[in-house]
Formats: sequence, C-alpha cells, structure tokens
Amino acid sequence: MPASVSARPESALLEQIKNRWSREPLQHFIDNRWVENSTRETFEVVNPATEERLAVCASGGKAEIDRAVSAARKAFESGPYRKWSGRDRGKFLRRLADLVEKHAEELATLECLNNGKPIAELRAVDLPMTVEVLHYYSGWADKVHGETIQPPGNYFVYTRREPMGVCGSITAWNFPLLLTSWKFGPAIAGGNTMVHKPPEQAPLSSLRFAELCREAGLPDGVFNVVTGLGETAGEALTRHPDVDKVGFTGHYQTGQLVMKAAAESNLKRVSLELGGKSPNIILDDADLDLAVRGTLTGIFFNQGEVCCAGSRLFLPKKLHDPFLDRLVSAANARKVGDPLDPKTEQGAQISQEQFDKILGYIEKGKAEGAKLASGGARCGERGYFVRPTIFDGVQDEMAIAREEIFGPVISVLPYESLDEVAQRANATCYGLGAAVFTQNVQKAHSLAAKLKSGTVWINCYNAFDASVPFGGYKMSGFGRELGQHALELYTQVKAVWLNLGS
Ligand code: NDP
Repeated sequence: MPASVSARPESALLEQIKNRWSREPLQHFIDNRWVENSTRETFEVVNPATEERLAVCASGGKAEIDRAVSAARKAFESGPYRKWSGRDRGKFLRRLADLVEKHAEELATLECLNNGKPIAELRAVDLPMTVEVLHYYSGWADKVHGETIQPPGNYFVYTRREPMGVCGSITAWNFPLLLTSWKFGPAIAGGNTMVHKPPEQAPLSSLRFAELCREAGLPDGVFNVVTGLGETAGEALTRHPDVDKVGFTGHYQTGQLVMKAAAESNLKRVSLELGGKSPNIILDDADLDLAVRGTLTGIFFNQGEVCCAGSRLFLPKKLHDPFLDRLVSAANARKVGDPLDPKTEQGAQISQEQFDKILGYIEKGKAEGAKLASGGARCGERGYFVRPTIFDGVQDEMAIAREEIFGPVISVLPYESLDEVAQRANATCYGLGAAVFTQNVQKAHSLAAKLKSGTVWINCYNAFDASVPFGGYKMSGFGRELGQHALELYTQVKAVWLNLGS
C-alpha cells in the first residue's frame, strides 16, 4: 500500500496498468501460462467511470474450457500438487496472501479502473478482505480431518474428508477479486484444482491473481482462468462432464441454468450465491445515529451493487419523518464521482446495461406512485453514475419493493407492529440478508429468529468476516461461503469400514 491511503493512485502506476492491460487481445491463463484463444473472438472491457475501452479479452468457449479442465484434471490426478500435504497448501496460501498484500495498491487500482468502485473502498475492504480470506483458509488447509466411528458389531469405521476434484468457479462483477478468493481459498484448502470464469465486465483482477498464484509457487494446472461470456464459456464449464463441482455467484435465473446444466451433464455438485431484496428493519427504540449510518452502508456501499443490499427500509410510523430527514441529508451529502479520488464514496455502476436498468427502475417507481425523496437521476454527463436514491411512500407490491435493482436505490416502507413487519420482511422469494436496529435485546433476537435469511445483522449492516458463513435461504441460493462451512462445499466424505472379526 502507498505511504498514504488518502492519496490518489500514483500516475506512474496508472500508466503502467493501462499500458499493460490495453495490449490486445489478452489471453487466457491456463496451466500456468498465457494461452491464445482458438478463435479470433474477443470482447471489450470498459472503464465504467469514463466509458473508455480498458482492455480487449479473448472470448473463450468450449475449446478453452476443455483445455483448462484437462490441465486441472491432470494437476489433480498426477501433478506435483497431488503430493502436497495440507500443510503445503496452507503455506502456499500464506505466500499468496503476502503477495496479494504486496501488490494491493496495484490490484486495487486495476479493480477501480475495471469495476468503477471507489479506491477508498478497495483499499479498506476488497483488498484487506481478500488477504484475510487467504490467510483464514491457509489455517484450515492442514485441519481438514475425518472422524472415527464405532458402529455396532465388530467394526471400526473412519471417515476421510477428500477433495471434490476439479471445481468450476463462475462469479459476478460486483466484487471480482474478492469473490474469486471466496471460492479459491476453501477449494485449495480442501485440495481441489479449479477453472475460473470471471465476469465479462470485470475479468482483469482474476487474470492478475492467477499470475500471483504462479509466482507464489502453485503448480501448473491447479488454477486456470478462462475469460469469456456466460452463455459460451460459463455454459461449457457447467456442462463439462469432467468438472466435479461448480461454485456460482450471480443472478438467480443464471443459477437455475447452472443447476439445469449440472443436472443434465454429470450431476456435478453446485453451490449458488444469488441475489436478494433484503429488509432493513428500524424499531422505534433504535439509536438513530447508528441506524442511519447502518442504513446508508446497507444500501449505498459499493454503489448498491451488493447482493445483500438493504433495499427495503421498514420504518415505524413514529420515526418516519425524523429518520427520513436524516437519511436524505446524509444521502445528498455523499460524494459521488471519480472512483480514483480517495474522497469518493460512491463510484460508477458497472455498465451501460446496469445503469439503464437502475434508471428504468427509478422511472417505474415514479410511475407506480412512489415519492422520490432524494436522487433519482444520473450524476454527471460521462460514466455510469447514479445519485443515491430514496423512494418514500412505497407499497409492498411495487416493482421497486419486490425486484432486485442492484443499484443505489432504497424503498421506504412504513409499518405498525413487529408481527406485521416480520411477515412483510419475509414476503419475498429471496432470503440473503436482513438487519434489525433496536436497543431492546429481546426484540432483536426474537426478530432475528423470525427472519428467513442466511444472515441477520443487529445494529450493523454489511459486516463480513472470513470466519463467518454467508449464503442464502430460498431463491438466494444454497451452500455457505466463508468460514468452516465453505470447506463442506469443496470436500466430500468417504466412510472406510474395517472388519475387526475373522
Ligand atoms: P449473472 O448471473 O448475469 O452472471 C454471473 C456470472 O454467470 C457471470 O460470470 C456470467 O457471465 C455467468 N453466466 C451467465 N450466463 C451463464 C450461463 N448460461 N451458464 C453459466 N454461467 C453464466 O449475474 P451478474 O453478473 O449480473 O451479477 C449480479 C447478480 O449476482 C445479482 O443478482 C446479485 O445479487 C448476484 N450476486 C450474489 C452474491 C452473493 O454472494 N449471493 C454476490 C454478488 C452478486 P457473463 O459475465 O458473461 O455475464
């Protein structure tokens, strides 16, 4: 990291990054080397803050996925990695964590240019957490144990926790590097190899991460990156008969396609981290400062491009006016703009498509009769910037209250009683995150038990740690990433029976 995290990235670093990644077209990273695409097909990667072309990537398809899977299979079955003990894998993950930390400013700047999120958030959240995730799973790698069981009869049974084999990883564009580490860390701790398809909008940090894996000593074929589109490279990966598991992050409709492809090919294991429409419930005894801060973080962090964003704000009638006043003035004061400026709090949305989708929802909200309390328009003339937007007077059945917008748009929904709010908070097909702000411990825990979601935050929002499981109820997916639970996604249990009799 630079001497001062409050400075803009140095211009020499910016030049170096732009020069390196604008060399075109980029290649895939397979078997620890750069590999050309089998066709001339490419796709453009755009800096969402400037709308300028940042890179041209190879658009991989079945041929590249085949090649990467075969490298990963070879590495899993017979390469030097096969001989690595859990401790060796742990040491590798520690070396990699150190390398990512050493290159944190470069990776943060690269991600900032590619994704449009603020450099301050990358320095404070994405990069430190990526390093933490690698450190955390380095600790697990030599602790993936079986158990002993004494069944009736003259038997002794032990279990082995074995790797799944070749794992596919398909991720979304909102936390490109971080989400890669969420899959990579437990996969390597469990002894698997991996083929990763990064999001087409933001693939660059995954390619750089693969280079760092090689530098940290990961043998050939263990981690492979194929850039490409979902419907070609992604589909080929999920249908591949020699892939044993796919870890997916993305939209629920894509998750359904992934499950279908897995079912129709080889019944590969699937874990899905999908979207959400998370409720943020303020009780009338809440600490208002804390609740307003939590609400802002809950919806506006990462431009609202967060799967568990608190996009439905349930306010008790008594608090409605004072809370909304504070929220609106805090939202209006947020600094939206150049992601490379360390003072920027909200950067650009990822793409023209996402920008149009968000503005479309804002129009829908107005048309359905919700009242715009703040924002509701683009910000500036260039780049995909949207003002922090607050809708008041929202009804549960409006599209802005039901559908995932994945942008900086919050709906204020008034409520009367705790029973009513729990029922309305749960009245969604999603179940990823939820929050409760109150000073009453009983009410907090009673609501936490009632909410149907994989995470409930009390008096905070968007708190994450490498050690804490994260995942969905209902159509927000299944399987838990992070924590010890993620190891279950990347290992399988074998029972070995020993007859102790004659
Ligand atoms: P998508 O589902 O569109 O894409 C996710 C990934 O799947 C991309 O790499 C995409 O490729 C790929 N893909 C697309 N089609 C297929 C296919 N047929 N087979 C295999 N892979 C395919 O989601 P977004 O990228 O738009 O991300 C936004 C969504 O992700 C939101 O719903 C959000 O809530 C969710 N999300 C969930 C998180 C969680 O942890 N629960 C975290 C982050 C996001 P391509 O890049 O070409 O589109």
